[in-house]
Amino acid sequence: MTLNTLSLKSPYLNLDDEFYDICESTPLDAPYLISFNAQVAKLIELDTSTQEDPKFIELLNGTYKPQGCKPFAMCYAGHQFSHYASRLGDGRAHNLGTMNGWHLQTKGSGETLYSRTADGRAALPSSIREYLMSEAMHHLGIPTTRALAIIGSKTKLLRNNIEYAAIVMRMSPSWVRFGTFEYFYYLKEHDKLKDLADYVIAESYPHLTQDEDKYFKFFTEVLERTASLIAAWQGIGFCHGVMNTDNMSIAGLTIDYGPYAMLDDFKFGFVCNSTDKAGRYAYGEQPNVAYWNLTKLAQALSPLIDSSRMDKKLEEYGKSIYPNAYIDVMCKKLGLELRLPEDQQLITSLIGTLQDAYIDHTQFFRALSRYDGERMSIFELAMNPVPFDTWLNMYDTRLEKESRSQEDRHVAMLQTNPKYILKNYMLDQAIVQAKCGNFTLIETLLYIAQHPYDELPEYEKFAGETPEEHKNITLSCSS
Ligand code: AMP
Ligand code: MG
Repeated sequence: MTLNTLSLKSPYLNLDDEFYDICESTPLDAPYLISFNAQVAKLIELDTSTQEDPKFIELLNGTYKPQGCKPFAMCYAGHQFSHYASRLGDGRAHNLGTMNGWHLQTKGSGETLYSRTADGRAALPSSIREYLMSEAMHHLGIPTTRALAIIGSKTKLLRNNIEYAAIVMRMSPSWVRFGTFEYFYYLKEHDKLKDLADYVIAESYPHLTQDEDKYFKFFTEVLERTASLIAAWQGIGFCHGVMNTDNMSIAGLTIDYGPYAMLDDFKFGFVCNSTDKAGRYAYGEQPNVAYWNLTKLAQALSPLIDSSRMDKKLEEYGKSIYPNAYIDVMCKKLGLELRLPEDQQLITSLIGTLQDAYIDHTQFFRALSRYDGERMSIFELAMNPVPFDTWLNMYDTRLEKESRSQEDRHVAMLQTNPKYILKNYMLDQAIVQAKCGNFTLIETLLYIAQHPYDELPEYEKFAGETPEEHKNITLSCSS
């Protein structure tokens, strides 16, 4: 399909006009294409050759509208760092329409009704970060929004430094957030709350449409999807950085990539957001924050669902739903097929061991994926290898209870524990190059992001330990 035949629909516009604002994007100066993701283009049946069509840049820049395109910004609210903000919304994003269930959105495309005092723009660095990381997360098997392309420009922005503005074309099966429900709950607009629940059920939980108990089951499934999403983040070492309720997807996806980071050395208390002085969104806190956010969602849904039933589910989140999701993720990382009572202890002890050892999270699990009883390959990764002796004794004992062969275990673990992840220092290098008009590293990192489990000898340098001076990079929301 070409841009001429691309035809978009906008199911969200069937909702009341309080849900959105119809608005045009504001074009950037001298836009140029930085990168195009052919894999994502396939999802909306766009030919790869579309990237050569000058109209493609115009599509991102808002100066070309395909058939059916009626841009709008979505309205939502949200708890930001525990404080309620009654009106947020897409302050710098325009929704263009839907194709094959993917809602296309440009981020950084200018002011909307919801911009408040901000400029409606996204700087080149944060746009490159979102473009690459959403692709990496997808290939790591973690539910996420995707990104089709990124354009740069000569439009200047005032951030910590002067930056150039960019636009990323993002796509998602849903852009509805916990905060979208909060918006109508706090305004006491219960009819609209119900309309929104029906819309989301039809879009993201269609098997519940005819269910007599659909609202409660919907809440239950949001909670379950959220639990398994966060467990996946913990397993891979992803720190979101801004888990406000407006950044929590109602469909259980990773959305709104801001000051995120992948762990370098394992550190439970690592905080990647430099403005988060209290460490509310520290890596180790993410499961608790998700719980807190789910309690806010439950409150927002209380006009539709009996609160005592939701409270019970929330209790289960802490007691069994999240712990079980996490144990599943970790057992898979450890190459364990059985689920035994002692696994909880094995995992807890591993977390303490990793914390004390000063060891690269990703490299450790990759090395463990070839573990055959010889410990040196793990010891040499740690600054302090001592704690590993005790833990590996436990692991050896536990492995004896598995029936799978060592070889098969290794094969499975090498498909679970990536060799390549995108660390902030690599993204920084790609950003520095891009600012000089060189996009080679963006393409390289895109390729790496798409092959996290492969051995790529030419890119070996991206699989090593993070250079000491580049460990634990933190960013702010405006980076
Ligand atoms: P975020 O921290 O990126 O999730 O953004 C929180 C809220 O601020 C959302 O409503 C965004 O749309 C809005 N926002 C962030 N940056 C800008 C900007 N440069 N211009 C307008 N709105 C923004
Ligand atoms: Mg956001």
